[in-house]
Amino acid sequence: MKSIDKIHPKKIIPAYFVLLTLITLSILNEIRIFYIPINIPGRQMAITIPPFGIFIEDQFKNEPNIPCSILNHEKVHWEQFRKMGLVSFYFNYFKSYFKSGRIINWMEEEARNPCKTGKLITTY
Ligand SMILES: [Zn+2]
Repeated sequence: MKSIDKIHPKKIIPAYFVLLTLITLSILNEIRIFYIPINIPGRQMAITIPPFGIFIEDQFKNEPNIPCSILNHEKVHWEQFRKMGLVSFYFNYFKSYFKSGRIINWMEEEARNPCKTGKLITTY
C-alpha cells in the first residue's frame, strides 16, 4: 500500500475536482423555489429553469398545496429535469415546444396530469 506522501499531487488534484464536481452537481440537483416580485411576461405565472430552480410570481406564495397548484405543476417539470438531465430537458422541451407549442406539448401535458389525477408531488 502506498503511503500518502508517496501519492503524487498530480493524482490528487483531479480526484479533488471530480469530488467537487459531484458535490456541485448534487447541490444543483436540489429543488429551489423562489417567489419573485416580477410579473413573468405573458400568461405564464411560473417558470422552471434547471438547474437554478423554480420561479413563481410572489402573488401565488400563499397558494394551497394541492394537485392543481402552480408549484405542483412546476415540480413535475423539476422531475422531468431530474429524469432527463440538464441537456436533455432543454433539448426535449424546446423540441416539443417548437413542434406543438407551449400549451399542448407533451412535457406541459405531463405537468398538468397531477391536476387531473389528483397526484400531489411530495418528493421535495
Ligand atoms: Zn409547465
